[in-house]
Order: sequence, then structure tokens, then C-alpha cells
Amino acid sequence: MKKLLVVSLFVLCIVFALGKTYKVGTEATFPPFEYVENGEIVGFDVDLIKAIAEAEGFDVEFVDMSFDSLIPALVSGNIDIVIAAMTINEERAEVVDFSDPYWTANQSVVVKGGSGKGLTVLFGDNSIGAQTGTTGDLWIEEELQNTGILTGQVKRYESFVLAFTDLENENVDALVLDEPVAERYAKDRNVDIVGLILTNEEYGIAINKDNKALLESINNGLEKLEDSGELLEIVGKYF
Ligand code: GLN
Repeated sequence: MKKLLVVSLFVLCIVFALGKTYKVGTEATFPPFEYVENGEIVGFDVDLIKAIAEAEGFDVEFVDMSFDSLIPALVSGNIDIVIAAMTINEERAEVVDFSDPYWTANQSVVVKGGSGKGLTVLFGDNSIGAQTGTTGDLWIEEELQNTGILTGQVKRYESFVLAFTDLENENVDALVLDEPVAERYAKDRNVDIVGLILTNEEYGIAINKDNKALLESINNGLEKLEDSGELLEIVGKYF
């Protein structure tokens, strides 16, 4: 009997040791979805993927990188999952798979606090900033630059921390970024939100196209969290 117990424990240990650890890529200057607090990456997305992992029996470890490196890293197999408040769009869906959507968001226009600038900041010779490779960046290019509405410079940033510092220092006239994140920055930085762009974007978790089993598992996990109410609890913690 004792022997059986020892053997079972041993087998259990092996099973746990084999429990797969997936590398999760994110860009941690995007509160409340992912940000660094006391040296640790935390946020809504972080809790969400951890809860999915727990529900589905795998482990995760986070890798912080620039937003525009996330998809290339996923395609090359350096990471297994991307959760980064990433909008599902056609261009991205050609190279990676997306989970079912878990959030919807619009873009907003942010200026320096008390600068008196309004939405017209998007016109003419102003400089407008965004994080490289984001949908905000794409929107500026397609809707402002290509149409000739904006004749000034487009400034692309690796991180939003840098972008907001540049905005406060008047090195850029406005930033375009996801509304929930703009709201969060507006709480503790000297910036004003002056406009909303209704883009109706949906966020999804991205997975390598060769890993359909993981895609299915993530969608299963997401559904379990919706059904159990755990997803709502995570929402309540960050919003
Ligand atoms: N939702 C935007 C996008 O997918 C921004 C994401 C981000 O900056 N982390 O491009």
C-alpha cells in the first residue's frame, strides 16, 4: 500500500513537472492591461492568461518586448502566446491566429494638460505620436497622413512611457492610443483626452498558426472563466 502511494506520488510529480510552460509575450507599458509594478509585470491581461492557464493546466512565463516585435516573435516560435491588448485585424490574422475576442476598445486623442489644444490638433502641421505598429499608428497613417489632413510629423515610440513624457515636454502635440489606456495615463500624468475615435476594436490573444491545440485550449479556458464569473472578477479588479 505504502509502495503504491510512493509510486503514485512519483507519477504525479512527473506529470506536474511535464505540465507545459508557455512563453507569453507582452509590452508592459499599457495599463491597466499590462504594466510593471514593483518590478513585476501585472495587469488585466496578465491575470486573464494566468487564469486561463490554471483552468487549462499549463504554466506561463512572461516576456516583455516592444509591441512591434510581438508578432514576429510569435511567428518565429520565440514565444507561444501574445496577450497585449492586441486588436484583432485582418493584416495580423493573416500571420497569426486569434482567440475569441475578450475586450472592445476605441482610440482616443490625448494632448498635454492645460495646453488648450482640441481635436484640430490632428490637422495641419502638428506632430502626432503613437506606439510603433499599433492600430493608433495605422489610423494616423491611413486617415491623417495619406489623406493629407496631417502635414506634420508622425512620431513613433517604442513605449508609451516615453510617448507620454514627450507629450508633457511638448516634443509632440498629441498621441493616439486605446481609450482605456489613455484614461489610465490621464489619471496620473498631466494630459487631457480631447477626442474619441470610434474604431470598435476587439482584443484577442494571439497564437502561432501551427498551434491549433493551444488556440482551442485558450478559447476553452476563456469560456470557462466567462461561465464561472471569474472573468468578471478580473474585470472588477482593474476597471
Ligand atoms: N490595441 C492596439 C493594437 O492592437 C494597441 C495595443 C498596444 O499598444 N499594446 O494595436
